[in-house]
Amino acid sequence: MVDFRPILQDIVAMAQQESNKGEVADYIPQLAHVDANKFGISILNHEGNIHSEGDAKERFSIQSISKVLLLSMAFGLVGDKLWERVDVEPSGDPFNHLSLLEMENGIPRNPLINAGAIVVCDVLISHLKNPKQEFLDYVRAIAGDQSISFDLEVAQSEQETGFRNHAAANLIKSFGNLSHKVSEVLDFYFHSCSISMSCEQLVKVFYIFMNRGNCLQNKNYLSLSQVKRINALMLTCGFYDEAGEFAFEVGLPGKSGVGGGIVALLPNQFCVATWSPGLNEKGNSKLGMQALEQLTTATGLSIF
Ligand code: GLN
Repeated sequence: MVDFRPILQDIVAMAQQESNKGEVADYIPQLAHVDANKFGISILNHEGNIHSEGDAKERFSIQSISKVLLLSMAFGLVGDKLWERVDVEPSGDPFNHLSLLEMENGIPRNPLINAGAIVVCDVLISHLKNPKQEFLDYVRAIAGDQSISFDLEVAQSEQETGFRNHAAANLIKSFGNLSHKVSEVLDFYFHSCSISMSCEQLVKVFYIFMNRGNCLQNKNYLSLSQVKRINALMLTCGFYDEAGEFAFEVGLPGKSGVGGGIVALLPNQFCVATWSPGLNEKGNSKLGMQALEQLTTATGLSIF
């Protein structure tokens, strides 16, 4: 069994020394206030032991990390019919790209870019009575933590400034791939992005993708085949136009968000989350990527 503690301490020391921490996202005004010097990391192993360093208990906006949870809930509810509405190919483009090539016939390239997650939200609305509350309850149940919540100020802030997401949703709607009103779908999408969680909470939620679809309380949410597919999507599409770089440097399926969080996992072994708000030019946490590269290089633990 690997002793993660000294490695995590080295990673935190690296993060403190780094002078170029990247740029905090400011296109969502509410996110621009976050302190760029925050850094947290948590590892949860298969046995359920958690090791954390730095600001690992502090909550931040998970943003696009929520796309994996929307996907997981929708896939669990509708199964393979989901792939009639969204494709499974990496995009090689930024998360908010609107290219028609990305969206042949209104079918977004994959569920982990904005356009794809918007379609997944539409699918969920068709199957849930109260989508926002039921999605939140789903995330809380997997984590075993009722304190997880939306950050309504972040949701409101993005509602007011998310012009590209409005454009994407209208484009998809024009192709006939949204059943509900654009405003209703986007309200759900922005709320899902606004969920705040700490690194310690994130690793507990993503434990299901590491542990064959079973949460820490041993309840099953996904079949083995579904877990395989979600992890494959995280590996190929979890970092937008930097998915190749993340596989090359880190070698784990994972997902980033513009709040500066990254969560990644090695099936049957461990789940890791980092938080450092400064982003690189591709919109992924700069120090988070460096930390995870350090982790998998030092331990030799990756899917490769
Ligand atoms: N809510 C953000 C958006 O739609 C999510 C983007 C991200 O985290 N990459 O722009």
